[in-house]
Parts: sequence; C-alpha cells; structure tokens
Amino acid sequence: MADTQILVLGGGPAGASVAIGLKRLGYEVTLVGEPRPFDAIEGVSDRVVEGMRHAGFERALTTLAAPSARSVTWNGETSAANTERLIVRQRFDRALVEDLRGSGVRVIQGRVTAMASQEAGFSVSVVGDDGSEHCVEAGFLVEARGRAAPASGVPRVRGAQSVSLLQHWQGAAGTPCSAVQSFADGWAWMAKREDGRRYLQLTLDVASSRLPPKQQLGQWCYERLSGLEQAQPFMEGAEPVGEVYARTSTPVLCEHSAGDNWLRVGDAAMAVDPLSGNGIFQALSSALQAPAVINTLIRHPERAALAKAFHETRIEQLFYRFARIGRDFYDQESQWPEHPFWRARRAWPDSQPLHLEVTPDRVSTGVRPVVDNGLITEARVVITPDQPLGIWHLNGLELAPLLDEVRAQSDINPTRVLIERLGEPKGVALSRWMVQQGWI
Ligand code: FAD
Repeated sequence: MADTQILVLGGGPAGASVAIGLKRLGYEVTLVGEPRPFDAIEGVSDRVVEGMRHAGFERALTTLAAPSARSVTWNGETSAANTERLIVRQRFDRALVEDLRGSGVRVIQGRVTAMASQEAGFSVSVVGDDGSEHCVEAGFLVEARGRAAPASGVPRVRGAQSVSLLQHWQGAAGTPCSAVQSFADGWAWMAKREDGRRYLQLTLDVASSRLPPKQQLGQWCYERLSGLEQAQPFMEGAEPVGEVYARTSTPVLCEHSAGDNWLRVGDAAMAVDPLSGNGIFQALSSALQAPAVINTLIRHPERAALAKAFHETRIEQLFYRFARIGRDFYDQESQWPEHPFWRARRAWPDSQPLHLEVTPDRVSTGVRPVVDNGLITEARVVITPDQPLGIWHLNGLELAPLLDEVRAQSDINPTRVLIERLGEPKGVALSRWMVQQGWI
C-alpha cells in the first residue's frame, strides 16, 4: 500500500504493538531494538493479556506464567483477594522479536546511537548486537524506547521523583506468588517464580531516601527487606543473586507526543508510577491507537492536526487517570502522614476525583476525533464528565444520534423512543444502560 518507510525505535510492548499494527495496515516497517540491560519480573492482570492478544503477541503470551496469588499489606491491613500473572521481561521481550518477525516486520537487533532529522524524514545510526554498523532511513519515525528515549527539549510533566531498587534472589522451587507492602518511606513489591527465582523491589523517594553509595546498596536493601513481614517468605532459604539495579520510576508525561512525521508511544510518551501495576497496560493503550494516527498522518496530511490532537489528548487523559488512581491508593496509607514520600504522592497530580459525577445535565453530544477503519476521522459522540473524549459506539450502535433523539422527544418516555428505533429487547436494554450511566 503506502510506500513510506516506517522506523520504530524500541522493541518493548509499545514498539512491538505499533510495528505489528502498521504491518497489518500494509506498511513496510523496520524496528530497531536492543535488549534491556537488566532483567525484571513484572505483574499484569487479565485485561493486559487481552490487550496483548489483540496486539498479536502470540509467542510472547506463551512466556506468561499462570495467574498466581497476590497479597497486599497496606495501611497495616493485609488482603489476599486477587491474582496477577508474572512476566519475566527478558524472556517476554525475546519472544516479542519472534512475534515481530512472524508478522513480517524487519527487525534489526542493536542500539540506536544517533538520529538526525532531514528533509525527507529521519536518518538513524545503529550499532548491531554483532558490532555491525547500519544507517537506517525512514519517512516516519516511532519513538518507543521507553523511559530511555531522549527527551531533551521536550516539555514534560513530572510526579514526585522516585527510584526503584531491584534485586534477584534464588531459593528452592515452590508455588509462585507476589506481595506488596508499604513502609515508612516507600513500598516493596516481591515476586516468586515456580523455579525458586525471587524478585525484590523497593520504591523510594529520590529526595528524602538518603541512599548509601552503590557498593553498600545490597546490604541497605537487605536490612530494609528484613524488617518487612511480607518479604520474609521471599527471603527465607534464599540468597541474593547479582547486584542491586536502580530503575527510575517517576511518573512522566511528554507534553508533545506527535508531529507530522513522528510519534512517541508507550513509556516514551508517558510513564506511570509502577504502583498502579498498569505500565504495560498504558503502553499498549497508547500503542494500539497509534497505527491509525500514523496512517492518517501519511495518507491524509490535511487531517494532521486532528490526528495529532487525537493522540496527544488520549495520552494525556490516560496519564492523569493513572496518576489519580495512584494518588488515591497512596492516600489509603495513613500510618506515616508527615513523611515526604507519602505527603508528596497523596497530593499529586491534583485533587480532582478519579470519577466525576455524571448527571443528564452534564452529558452532551458533539463532534470529536475517533478511529474508523484504520483512520482518524470525526464523528458525533456522547461527552460526559468521565469520558471527555467521547463515546461513539456501544455494541455497534452509534450512541449520540440515539441520545439526541431521546432528548428531542422529551415529552415521550425514553424507553419508548428507543424501542421505536431499535425494537423491544435492544431499546429496553439501551434505555436501562443509559439510566445506569446517568445520561437520562
Ligand atoms: P519498554 O518496555 O521500556 O521498551 C523499550 C525498549 O527500547 C527496550 O527493549 C529497550 O531496551 C529499548 N531501547 C532503549 N534504548 C534503546 C536504544 N538506544 N536503542 C535500541 N533500543 C533501545 N508494568 C506493569 O504492567 N506491571 C508491573 O509490575 C510493572 N512494574 C514496574 C516496575 C518498575 C520499577 C518500573 C520502572 C516499571 C514497571 N512497569 C510495570 C512498567 C513497564 O515496565 C513499562 O510501562 C512498559 O515496559 C513500557 O513499555 P514500552 O514498550 O513503552 O517500553
């Protein structure tokens, strides 16, 4: 189809999802990525697994462990109600490369060392994993190098500066599980794999945590973890393996994530607090819509402003939604109200409630950008305080014209109006749903 060469930088979940999505739209796609310099275990929920399936991560999905028990000790109380699936990131990321190649994406395994923008696009220098040097040219560039993506000169919104210290431990094989525990100046996440590999992670405030020099970090973490009840089952009969690795975990939003011939996706566009456990979810959410944005920028440059605004407002909405979820969770911890770690995170990003009340007088219809058939276009949608970007369809029904009709016939019962338009079962069900949503 289109002959624009598209280059994706970074082969994590966001880069892989965009590359496969673009390939499905008929583009020639090259992805350059190097493996992460450290291994990590991360946890995801079933809805992330759904997103990965949708993105085409067939091989990568086979590396996920079965759901395992997750316990949370927060504000002095322990609950063990839910489960999560553990991902060994290096294994998962290697399988993503197989998924990419299986989808027809050209993959160059190597490090991006320099990038220049030129009149017709971009020129990127790459040092391959085998030491070979390449220069790759492309008309469109997708920046998906995660938190490592260069961002000098890009205006950014930042939350409280956080660092996560992680270390692998090895013990006897056993039942996999994970746990979270808060403490006076941070929180810990621990995970145990079936083969006895454990992963212990402490998240702290950069400004107030007074970390020791690098060579003493191992002992420092050991002492911290020894004082946590939830960490004991992960430490007993186990030994640390390798060094402590420090990972920045500050929430960051790039205020510009779209240009006429480039797009930032995933953590390169916005990275959330790991407490939400939603990093991969948000990376996929921003990446799944990106192929339609890129397709529009390439095929309909006259709609560039619409496509860029669509991408940037969605990224911003997602960022603030996850920031407020994190804030509310931090706010549930009241044991150390004056400690800078908790004080800063309870109050950021703002005091706006996560969910705004929806009442009929606050619901309207209007024209907004939407994804239609692989392109960004405009459609009439229903706009609510909770869904300011608008809701277009529900089970194949366009909602705005139906709501407009109900409102235009305000002297008739809404259910009757909808039955007339859709027939009995559908009309009754939709009327009930609109009442539940607070629209009518
Ligand atoms: P990444 O997954 O970071 O992928 C970027 C890729 O680009 C990497 O492969 C990297 O090696 C590559 N790259 C970087 N620079 C270059 C270069 N110069 N050249 C070539 N390639 C390059 N999320 C969850 O869902 N659950 C969790 O439990 C969880 N725990 C977390 C704990 C911590 C401490 C942190 C910081 C994050 C956590 N996350 C978690 C978030 C999750 O890791 C990210 O949100 C997600 O991986 C983002 O995907 P991405 O594709 O945007 O970036």
